Amino acid sequence: MRIGIGYDVHKMVEGRPLVLGGVNIPHEKGLLGHSDADVLVHALMDALLGAAGEGDIGKHFPDNDIKYRGISSLALLVKVKEILHGKGFMILNIDSVIVAQQPKMAPHIGKMISCLSETLDISAGRINVKATSTEGLGFTGTGDGIAAYAVAMLGHVR
Ligand code: MG
Repeated sequence: MRIGIGYDVHKMVEGRPLVLGGVNIPHEKGLLGHSDADVLVHALMDALLGAAGEGDIGKHFPDNDIKYRGISSLALLVKVKEILHGKGFMILNIDSVIVAQQPKMAPHIGKMISCLSETLDISAGRINVKATSTEGLGFTGTGDGIAAYAVAMLGHVR
């Protein structure tokens, strides 16, 4: 078995959609980035690539490459899944935390899990998504950004 960790931060700005875990979340601000800036999926991809000994998303999907501009992070997650399968890995479980003051994540977490489960072809029971605020402290507390952490455990397909 192999374990990996991922962490990502994106800035919150007006005029961008808020996409987390592949789900569009109604909010007056969204995350700024080269892709759709889905900070949860980015942290998750880094955890999966890390567990597979495959570097990070910057290595596989450079943000100065025009073909990744505005791309759905779920499309990149499919590519990560293919890298794992190519190396004979299966995902045993994923745990994650979204760090944001606003909006409330609880109503959206079930949908995020379904979306990730479908994209990765693993059962929803292998995926956990949590959310926390930082009680107004720091860049997440002020709403200037959203952070996400993820860990993933991989096993070898027999
Ligand atoms: Mg990112």
